[in-house]
Amino acid sequence: MMDSSKNKESSKSGGQDSSSETTEEDKPELCPGFKDADAFVKYGLGAVLSATKASAGLPQAGDEFDFYRSFPGFQEFCESQGDKLLLCMSQIMQHHGCRSHLRDRSKLTGLEERFDLVVDSNDVILERVGMLLDEADGVNRSQQPVMPAGFQPPKIVVSSWNRKGLGRSSETFKLLHAKNVARPQLKFKEKVDNSNTPFIPKIFIKPNAIKPLPSYFSNKQIRKERPEDLDVPTALADFIHQQRTQEHVDDMFAHPYQYEIDHLTTTDSLLTKPEPQMYKELAETKLTYIDTLEELVTLNEKLCQQHEFAVDLEHHSYRSFLGITCLMQISTREEDFIIDTLELRSEMYILNESFTDPAIVKVFHGADSDIEWLQRDFGLYIVNLFDTHQASRALNLARHSLDHLLKLYCNVDADKRYQLADWRIRPLPEEMVQYARSDTHYLLYIYDRMRAQLLDFNHGQPGLLQSVWNKSKDISLKKYVKPIYTEDSYLEVQRKQKKSYNTQQLTAFRLLFAWRDKLARQEDESTGYVLPTHMMNKISEELPKEPQGIIACCNPVPPLVRQQVNELHLLVQQAREMPLLKAEIVAQKNKGLTPVKKPEVTLFGPHDTSRVSESDIPQFLSHEMPVKQGILFSEETRIEIDVDKLSSLMAKPKITVFEEVLTKKAEDSLSGSQMKARRIIEAFENPFRMYLPLDVHVNKNAKFDPNSKIFEISKRWKLQSIEQQQKELEAKKKAKEEARKVTEERKKAKKSYQESLQDVATVRQKAAESGKAVGKKRDRVPSEVGESTPKPTKKSKPPQTEAASAHAFTPFDYSQSQLKVFSSGAKSKDDTQFDPYRQGHDSKKKFGKGPKSNPGAGNRSMSYQPAKSNRGFRHNWPKR
Ligand code: AMP
Ligand code: MN
Ligand code: ZN
Repeated sequence: MMDSSKNKESSKSGGQDSSSETTEEDKPELCPGFKDADAFVKYGLGAVLSATKASAGLPQAGDEFDFYRSFPGFQEFCESQGDKLLLCMSQIMQHHGCRSHLRDRSKLTGLEERFDLVVDSNDVILERVGMLLDEADGVNRSQQPVMPAGFQPPKIVVSSWNRKGLGRSSETFKLLHAKNVARPQLKFKEKVDNSNTPFIPKIFIKPNAIKPLPSYFSNKQIRKERPEDLDVPTALADFIHQQRTQEHVDDMFAHPYQYEIDHLTTTDSLLTKPEPQMYKELAETKLTYIDTLEELVTLNEKLCQQHEFAVDLEHHSYRSFLGITCLMQISTREEDFIIDTLELRSEMYILNESFTDPAIVKVFHGADSDIEWLQRDFGLYIVNLFDTHQASRALNLARHSLDHLLKLYCNVDADKRYQLADWRIRPLPEEMVQYARSDTHYLLYIYDRMRAQLLDFNHGQPGLLQSVWNKSKDISLKKYVKPIYTEDSYLEVQRKQKKSYNTQQLTAFRLLFAWRDKLARQEDESTGYVLPTHMMNKISEELPKEPQGIIACCNPVPPLVRQQVNELHLLVQQAREMPLLKAEIVAQKNKGLTPVKKPEVTLFGPHDTSRVSESDIPQFLSHEMPVKQGILFSEETRIEIDVDKLSSLMAKPKITVFEEVLTKKAEDSLSGSQMKARRIIEAFENPFRMYLPLDVHVNKNAKFDPNSKIFEISKRWKLQSIEQQQKELEAKKKAKEEARKVTEERKKAKKSYQESLQDVATVRQKAAESGKAVGKKRDRVPSEVGESTPKPTKKSKPPQTEAASAHAFTPFDYSQSQLKVFSSGAKSKDDTQFDPYRQGHDSKKKFGKGPKSNPGAGNRSMSYQPAKSNRGFRHNWPKR
């Protein structure tokens, strides 16, 4: 993947990189005509903007373009401009040392090949920008992804990092290559539970207990019992199981050591100024690698004798749905230990004896994630934690990362470049072992120093130090929460991106999101591996008509996308079949109408306005008016709308004549592909469905009837997901308010609709106008989904939003998915490493392979996206 010669070259030429504006910031004097970097960037941005506008104003391929092309003037203009552009592109590519044969336009074939060239060059250029930015701020060196070595001894590829003014050997960027890392999941004795159900603690014995462990955890029988194990009819079994489970709900979701942590008092000795005990030199410290139960037991005994020890974990989150703790580092004052937690995953719990001993301080740096990982993977808890990250905050240090503390207190130049390494790799390369041990080796000394400083800071008073103990306590009380898929999950992600999507795009996003979540759980891969969000956006934005178009949205193509491109295509098709709100159609039209200011493009007259191809606008026969009407908002106002209201903001039908007819008709008239798409959708069912009695027809109303069993069961399971729980509370409050809002919004919508009618009176809309006299209400779209599936959260929605939300909800049936099959057949076919972020918009990534032809090949080495990516979507990384 990253090849050394390329890197060297890039770092040499990178400084004068004229094509990337950002690099100019450092040396404004290099750029004649611009007094400073800002001016240059401003100008550049303006140029890019107008170019983008102009290109959006070009006639569409197909009819439009062909028509224009029949004018010689147009043809000539296109050719000369095209040549100019290609020349310019090849020059840029050559400048960057990329292959470029773009000028050879005579060749009609090989368009794809040339497209690949452009993509590759883009990759290289963006890469360079990223590296230069890194270099400029000199901070992000540690985030350089590290490639893991597989089973062969790691090849070390050295490339010049070329940071100014520093000549240390750590400038050398080490690259460990591995194409195949065995999936550690395959060896786990207890299979990973990716089901869409809340996490239940793994603990089954509780050392150092003041309050005994609830019977639910200690009694294996209750715990393991599943409805299907009961020797009664299914529906009854489910019910009984629910009943039994219900008794334990409070225990199931409580922190097993809550009581002990709450009742922990910080002893005076921990609040008095310590004499810092110097760490031993690394070279003189014994390091023990632990990968057998025997060794682990010995370690635990040793730890039980300590007053304090330091702990850290290394984690992997890319090729696993929930993430895997790969390594545990422990340092006492005398020794360092590294535990292979992949090997000892099921035995780690024995450490609870020392980890929950209130007389032993456990020192972590930035324990937030560690606390969760310990629970999730091993059922381990910490009683008596000291978090040096919290201490750093209390002391108001300049930075709170471990590197900073190491530099400050130990004058050690930490090398965090392995932080994002693939920690699954075995045997662990020596460099990674050394890196890992240094994460805890100095920590007890830092702990001493910080305690002393916290007391000094507060004139000897323990208040500040006590506050750090308290903060640490709060962290140790954190509970691991499994990511739960709900009907609204996609909106949370979508909302964060601040992209305004039309109905079709939002539908695509929702369907892709559900597909991705389901597959990720099933294959035990991260959602980022299955389909990175930026690709999901691209697909949703483009709504490709062909499967090939979906592939084109992804570079490189994630293996599972390639494998299931037909399914994805059906989902996109399904989204395309959603009628656009009229406002959306108008908005799309308006985009095409963007006033053209530059004289160069005046060739394009007022006719080529629509960026909406004909097929984008639903073709309605006079008896088939748009099903979801609603031109509710002009483009501008729409921006202010809360996205999650969108689904319920379907217009109050303006034209309602044909409602009944259409609803029925639509059902019958599904095409083959529509039917197939529908079946896929239907496969995504309510995650809680598995807890409902089988074969019971669940009437929608039964869900809301407090006397029904369904109501009871669904309510019970609701309680078990925090998310669901919160929603329920809110739902009650909202229901009233929403009813009011909807009425209000409908009024607004109506008004806006009237206005837009005046703006654009197309034939279709005229037809709509005339149609409105006849009908009343129609808010069904052809494919009706999730009708019979209970929705556990939404209780009493105003009737007018009912239909809309029915569409917004893609039920998800986890009971159908083989969630426990990771061991054998379920293994992803393509086990090679793959990095879908390689082509991501975030420019901080590695170089693409040098000369290569197939960017889509799945067998690329994988690298990590630095922290900015949404890869770590579940964690807010504390600054370490
Ligand atoms: P550390 O505590 O710094 O050793 O980090 C522990 C684990 O957290 C690493 O093995 C990574 O998997 C993960 N991690 C740390 N920092 C980041 C980050 N900035 N972005 C993503 N993952 C991180
Ligand atoms: Mn850590
Ligand atoms: Zn670490």
